[in-house]
Formats: sequence, structure tokens, C-alpha cells
Amino acid sequence: MKEEIWDLIIIGGGPAGITAGIYAGRQKLQTLLITKNFGGQVGEKAVKIENYPGFEEISGQELIEKFKKHLLKYEISIEIDEVKKVTKENQIFQVETISQKKFKSLSVIVATGAEPRKLNIKGEKEFLGKGVSYCVTCDGPLFRGKRVAVIGGGNAGFEAAIFLADLASKVYILEFSDKVRADKENQELAKKTGKIEVILKAQVKEIKGENFVKSLVFEDLSSQKEKEILVDGVFIEVGRVPATQFLQGLVDFNEKNEILTEPETMATKTPGLFAAGDCNQGIVKQIVTACGEGAKAAWSAYDYLQKIKLNS
Ligand SMILES: Cc1cc2nc3c(=O)[nH]c(=O)nc-3n(C[C@H](O)[C@H](O)[C@H](O)COP(=O)(O)OP(=O)(O)OC[C@H]3O[C@@H](n4cnc5c(N)ncnc54)[C@H](O)[C@@H]3O)c2cc1C
Repeated sequence: MKEEIWDLIIIGGGPAGITAGIYAGRQKLQTLLITKNFGGQVGEKAVKIENYPGFEEISGQELIEKFKKHLLKYEISIEIDEVKKVTKENQIFQVETISQKKFKSLSVIVATGAEPRKLNIKGEKEFLGKGVSYCVTCDGPLFRGKRVAVIGGGNAGFEAAIFLADLASKVYILEFSDKVRADKENQELAKKTGKIEVILKAQVKEIKGENFVKSLVFEDLSSQKEKEILVDGVFIEVGRVPATQFLQGLVDFNEKNEILTEPETMATKTPGLFAAGDCNQGIVKQIVTACGEGAKAAWSAYDYLQKIKLNS
């Protein structure tokens, strides 16, 4: 049987990948979308989204369901899997997944977004799923009536804490620097809960426990003394790193390992390979910008395919 060669493979099922899929579907490209999950970071959003046009207030889950329903209107094939390698030989891309599947295509859009940054402290790996979490909407409900800590005083940390304050008996936010980075609105909402305590100048050292998390050890950078707080859960919200490791050799990266793209076309240095959303070097990392870049990337992939088909 002749091996199938897709027009386009999209990697990633967040806002950028889904939008690219909608555009590709409308252009009737033979498209395969491979993703670990649908929604990406939007599925992890703890409080309502208030800055996506057309929806004054919508939950992340609801918005993603709408995106997905829209995508599935078109004839697009979907594989739930994780891509581990992309190579290109004689104009054909080969995409390999961790379940050992191999797919071929004439063009690729990478829309793999970003994943949580790790603290790399003792106890973080050992207690993952046993009190340590990077996703408050996924795991927060397990901590009803319990004491929890959120590491990171940016908007993501504050939003996680506000979400947890509805469930937990006490929520600490630990921030390394001498001030929080969350915007005023989130700071006010956190104050209103009456359950959130912010600890500044706290360098987290270790997560301790037995079968499950029991406490968190940090250095108080003002007094340089080590302190320990009793908590049942630790939510880590210290930023994101782009999910781009599997593209070595095909694209150029900046110092943050974000993919360098041409801003109008989302083209990378490899012809036929485009990148959209939070995995690339754009400064603004939002749903609406990820969607915009997904649209541009699909448009460019269509143009690229027209050209190579004309020349072959
Ligand atoms: C807590 C939080 C709150 C936020 N709040 C807002 C907000 O209110 N408004 C706003 O506009 N933005 C918000 N953002 C930012 C917004 O969610 C992101 O900018 C947006 O989701 C980026 O979309 P993306 O498609 O580029 O990437 P992502 O959403 O990260 O999606 C990437 C997708 O790729 C998949 N993937 C990754 N690697 C692979 C692989 N190797 N193989 C297969 N699939 C892979 C992932 O599973 C995922 O489905 C928030 C982000 C966070 C974390």
C-alpha cells in the first residue's frame, strides 16, 4: 500500500494549532493534527478569561470546547500522541511520535506552546501527583479544606491562589523577590478572599512529606533563616518554557529556546516548516495572538504547498 503523505501536519492542539486546523480545513488541505491534548494552557486557566473578543467572560474549558467543536466541522484527522522528532528529507517531513508512529507530510506547523517551568528542588519530582502539581484546575479540587502553597507571585500564581481559596482552608503564595508581579486586579481579588497570605523574599528549598506532601521549606531571604510551613499541596507557577526540544537542527532558537520565525508568515529557516503561538519568539503570549499566528501559519503553509505542487 502506498504510504500516505499529508499536505500538512499540525503539532499541538492549543489555540494556535486549532486555529491553524480551522484555516487548513477551510482550504481543504489534507491535514493531520497531532496533539497530546486539546486546550493546552487554556485548559489550565483557573479564573475566567476576560480578554478574548466576543466573550466578556468565559471559562478556559468552555472556550476550548467551542474551539474544538469549530475545528471538528472540517475534515481533519486527529491523533492524540506526543511528537518526539521531526526530520526533513527531499521536501518530505517525517514526524515521529512517542508511540512509535511515523507520519509524512509536505509541510508542518509547530504549535506546541509552552510547558510549566520546573523549580528543580528536592521533593518536586518525588511528590509529583502526591501533592505537587503544575495545574490548579486539574488538581485543585483534591485540596478541599486543606492547606496549600502556590510558588510564584505573578498573575498565574495569583489566579491559582484565588481559585484555591474557594476550596482550601489556607493558601500561601511564596514569591522570591521583594514584590509580587501580579496585576492590581488579581492582588485585590486575592485580598478579598481573606484566606491568602503572601510571603515575599522566600526562596523555596525543599518539599517534604512521606507518602504525600506534608510541608514546604524555604529560606527567608530577609533574615537568611530557614522556615517550614505545613501544607498538603504545592502548586508551582513559576513561568513556562517553550516545548521545542524536538526540533533541534530544523529551526533557530533565541536564548529562551523559543523558535525564531518571520513575523508575517511564521516561516522558520526550514522551507515548509512554520511555527505559531507560545512556542515562538513573540513577546505577547495570549490566546488571541496564538490564534492570529495559527491563522498566518496555515495561510503560509497553503501558499507554500501551492508553489511546490506547481513546480513538481
Ligand atoms: C494560568 C494561565 C492563565 C492564562 N490566562 C490567559 C488569559 O486570561 N488570556 C489570554 O489571552 N491568555 C492567557 N494565558 C496564555 C494563553 O493560555 C496562551 O498564550 C495560549 O494558550 C498559547 O496557545 P498555544 O496554542 O500557542 O499553546 P498552548 O496553549 O501551550 O498549547 C500547546 C499544545 O501543544 C501540545 N503539545 C506540546 N508539545 C507537544 C508535542 N511534542 N507533541 C504533541 N503535542 C504537543 C500541548 O499538549 C497543547 O495542546 C494564560 C496562560 C496560563 C498558563
